Amino acid sequence: MRISTITNWAYGITVALTLLSGGAFIIAAQSADRERDAAEAAWKLDDVVERLERAAEQTTEDARLYVMKGEERFLRAFQAADAEERTREQTVKQLKAVKLTAQEIAALREIETDAELLDALEEQAVKDFEGGEADKARAALFSPEHEDAQTGLLASVAHFADLVATRTQDELREAKAKADLWGAIAKSLLVLTALVFLSVLYFVLKRRVARPLLQMSGIVQRLAKQDYDVEVLTDARRDEIGDMNEAIQVFRDNGLERERLDAERRKDQHIKDLILQLMHRLQACHEEAELGPVVSLYASQIFPRLGGHLLVMNDGRNALTTTSTWGAPVRSTQEFPSVQCWGLRRGRPHLSGDRHDDVACQHLDESGHEESLCIPLAAHGDTVGMLYFEGERDGAELIEARVYIELIAENLALAIANLQLRDRLTNLAVKDPLTGLLNRRSLDENLNRLRREDTDLPAALMMIDIDHFKHFNDEFGHDAGDFVMRQVAAIMTDVVGRAGIVHRFGGEEFAVIMRSVDKDATSNLAEAIRRAIEKAPINYLGRPLGTVTVSIGLASTADGEPPATLMLRADAALLRAKSRGRNATVADWADGSGSGRLLAG
Ligand code: GH3
Ligand code: MG
Ligand code: MG
Repeated sequence: MRISTITNWAYGITVALTLLSGGAFIIAAQSADRERDAAEAAWKLDDVVERLERAAEQTTEDARLYVMKGEERFLRAFQAADAEERTREQTVKQLKAVKLTAQEIAALREIETDAELLDALEEQAVKDFEGGEADKARAALFSPEHEDAQTGLLASVAHFADLVATRTQDELREAKAKADLWGAIAKSLLVLTALVFLSVLYFVLKRRVARPLLQMSGIVQRLAKQDYDVEVLTDARRDEIGDMNEAIQVFRDNGLERERLDAERRKDQHIKDLILQLMHRLQACHEEAELGPVVSLYASQIFPRLGGHLLVMNDGRNALTTTSTWGAPVRSTQEFPSVQCWGLRRGRPHLSGDRHDDVACQHLDESGHEESLCIPLAAHGDTVGMLYFEGERDGAELIEARVYIELIAENLALAIANLQLRDRLTNLAVKDPLTGLLNRRSLDENLNRLRREDTDLPAALMMIDIDHFKHFNDEFGHDAGDFVMRQVAAIMTDVVGRAGIVHRFGGEEFAVIMRSVDKDATSNLAEAIRRAIEKAPINYLGRPLGTVTVSIGLASTADGEPPATLMLRADAALLRAKSRGRNATVADWADGSGSGRLLAG
């Protein structure tokens, strides 16, 4: 109940009690008035009765004195009876004005009768005395008859006085009792009013105002210190304190919401900072192989509760291989054909899990219940790989992370595509597209680098030319010629291994730079190449192409010799090998010892 309602009710009750109390006081005062009236009436009656007695006694006294002494003054006194009569009549009128009971009125009439009888006796005695019958008059005034009349009058007066005294005392008692009762009621109501007032004041101030205010003050202080764990009062009352409590509840809820939003914002900012760091590092990667460790390092920091793989598409764009893993993903295989993934098929992120009624990817373990997200990595119109994430069964974490994962995927796809593009451009610039060997430009650079890095260290160069290659083209076609070229390149790469770098010099000519200038080592390597090619069975589309042979010119550097000269000498040695019948190696050592020597053929 609202405090205003309580106070209104209390005010109404207090006013009602005050009115009742006032009414009781008025009634008590009226009762006191009546008590006073009754007392006054009793006093008046006493006075009248007294005057009746006195008048009766005085008349008798005057009449007797006159008949005894015969003096005029006693006669005058007796004659004053007229006035006395008026007094009596007035007294009776006064008495009738007072409310008398029937008994009292009867007693009053009796007094009148007795008084008239006595008056008649005394008037007759006075007349007799004036008529000369003094004895008769005296006898009459002292006769037993007169005595009886006088006694009767006094008795009537006494009886009337008794009746009046009894009644007025009763009335007085009754009026007093009433006055006392209403006085007590008025005082009780006054005390009750005061008690109601004080109780309401106590209840309102202490129970309904002071205590909740104190509690709320403590709560507000804690809320001000951002302690939102504080329990708000569960008082659901509808008053001003209730309103304040509700406001505090709203304040606390707002604070909690603000804190939650702050935490979310901080978490979001932290994740975005990490994603930004990841992007910077992805941009700084020089080759695709560097991407995997960077992604796994940051993915495990950004999504500590999610596991996943980074998968890269093969050159044929039909299968994926995992290049890095983070967390502990268990549901997906690490290598699979791209058709097994619904995400790759549709070119859109795909969720597989118990929470979704969508088809699950085939590269996922069917018995697994983990929530899985496959995001194709696409850039420059090409799908270069896939980002796979796996979360708990309920999937909440994964759903929450999805927007960040998609942001990472977009940047990762660009990074992979850019690196692949760079690789392709680099290959185009430095490699021969047919054989995959380094091209002529690379040969020049490598020879120059060799000189730049260590001028003291000599190097050896092998120039290799396929013998009668024109015939292959003519006989088996240009495609078969290409095939032979690739086979020869592969054999050379295989035989040379780490001992040197194989280049396609141009046409059907190759150049191998070797670190070692040891005569035996380089000669043996050249011979090993020549023999391996000679012995290799070369079949193209099931058709044997016959024996392929090469001629090799070998030269080693002298200190300070420019690369161009080395190449000229190697080329010259090759020409000599050709002129000496082909399928041969000719060496031109820097010290001139092997110049023009035919090693084999
Ligand atoms: P020799 O033993 O004197 O070296 O004879 P040869 O026929 O190998 O030499 P020649 O210089 O007369 O012919 C080289 C041929 O190699 C000519 C050309 O058609 C062929 N050729 C050069 N580059 C390619 C290529 O990339 N693919 C194919 N199929 N043939 C090529
Ligand atoms: Mg040739
Ligand atoms: Mg040639």
